[in-house]
Amino acid sequence: MPPFPDFANSTLFPTFASLPLATDDVPPDTPPYHLIGTVSENMTLSTSPTFICKDPSGSPFALTLRIPAALVKAGVQGGGYDVSGFKKGFAVVVPGARRSGVSEGKQGFVEVPVGEVKIIPASVKKLIEMGDKEKVVGRKRSEREGRECCQACGKEMEAGKLSRCKGCESVWYCDKNCQMLGWSEKGHKGECKVYRAVNSAFPDRGRLA
Ligand SMILES: [Zn+2]
Ligand SMILES: [Zn+2]
Repeated sequence: MPPFPDFANSTLFPTFASLPLATDDVPPDTPPYHLIGTVSENMTLSTSPTFICKDPSGSPFALTLRIPAALVKAGVQGGGYDVSGFKKGFAVVVPGARRSGVSEGKQGFVEVPVGEVKIIPASVKKLIEMGDKEKVVGRKRSEREGRECCQACGKEMEAGKLSRCKGCESVWYCDKNCQMLGWSEKGHKGECKVYRAVNSAFPDRGRLA
């Protein structure tokens, strides 16, 4: 399993203010980056769904979703498109985001086809915390080739002797008891779906480490 993305890395996950403009020439060899933001409110005023999100520095920015023209219902707010997945407190992930509409006194916004945005059921703050924790685990992992720690009791063993969570394939357990303990008392119930969403938002995340 490639490493968990380092969400605290400001080159890979820049702030809104440091994004290139939509009108800038971006060199083709620019390393891949993603804008991440925690959805804070829906402020859709037209047929384009628009959300205010908070970037990794806590600064707000507007994210406007471009929905396929064939699906837009004229005169309906948000174009009648189902944006119920964009829940308050969830993180949006926008690959290669650029700022549009920037002029004197206007910070602009990010406009992106809805299909390019991924949603993770956790805030940016939580993702940064999980990334920091995973960095420590990753360091240990590279020191002890082929060994893993049980997420519940912390016991270290050959990975082959532990069983892996089938939901996210990102944590390991000694046995059924530890798996139950890990799920309920050690917080994996909340994190399993986050790992799963991160795995699908960053399928080639090895390059992000
Ligand atoms: Zn255990
Ligand atoms: Zn899991």
